Amino acid sequence: MDNINRGNAISLFIINKKIINNLIVMTSLSRLFKPFADFLTENRCLICGKGRKLICQECEEKIAPLRQSVCPFCLKITSFGHTCSDCQLKHALKGAVVGFDYQNKAVSTIIKASKYPPFLYPLLAKLTNHLKSFFADQSFYENYFKTNDFTIMPIPLSKQKIAERGFNQSEIIASGLQKMLELKLDSKNLVKHKDTISQVNLNIKNRKTNIKNSFSVINHQALKNKKILLVDDLITTGATIEEAAKTLKRAGAQEVWALALARNLRPRSSPPMNSPKEKN
Ligand SMILES: [Zn+2]
Ligand SMILES: [Zn+2]
Repeated sequence: MDNINRGNAISLFIINKKIINNLIVMTSLSRLFKPFADFLTENRCLICGKGRKLICQECEEKIAPLRQSVCPFCLKITSFGHTCSDCQLKHALKGAVVGFDYQNKAVSTIIKASKYPPFLYPLLAKLTNHLKSFFADQSFYENYFKTNDFTIMPIPLSKQKIAERGFNQSEIIASGLQKMLELKLDSKNLVKHKDTISQVNLNIKNRKTNIKNSFSVINHQALKNKKILLVDDLITTGATIEEAAKTLKRAGAQEVWALALARNLRPRSSPPMNSPKEKN
């Protein structure tokens, strides 16, 4: 076989393999999550069901950045999302930046459709991109993170979870942020060595117990006196980011902030009917 023919044969094999894989994926997706699969094949908006795009312009325009900044743990209003003085006494996280309200239908639909079937994870990059206007509005964050030489770290998934899902949603967001804020990115040093059960149906106490001691740091030296921006898709009670922040601080990090695409801002005393699906 000459080089050109061999090249063609290889491309054909790759194309066929891709088509077969797509068919397998589409078949299992449509079984698992038919409504979303219908949207994919019929080119309707995931959010309103109208139009010809996956997210129509009207729905995309409704994705507005949050104006309110609160303590990540008690939801008291604080400047720039700093952990309030009471919560600082028992938490490692210095503060949390939250881009969007999870009660915004466009935001919650995008996050759910990315993390769960049909796994439209490129939409997370699209939502991350909407943070540009958030950072333009609130220049404190970009100045603070840049001046203090923060390193971005995605919340890791366990090996089992990665094998199951095939990607880490926090890494997708972290990579978009890295380009936007021009900070360093480290996706390797923080690992999740314990495969925990889903936090979805757990109360705050059980979430803390479930996630406890599940993260570890590979290279402690690389963290010495470093300031870290932990990235996640969603904050529900803050148990996951707090556990990761504790692990980083124990390993030598000087300061840890979190950034999440969204959170539900309802008071904890009245949990929503559809509590956001968190975590891993
Ligand atoms: Zn729409
Ligand atoms: Zn607080």
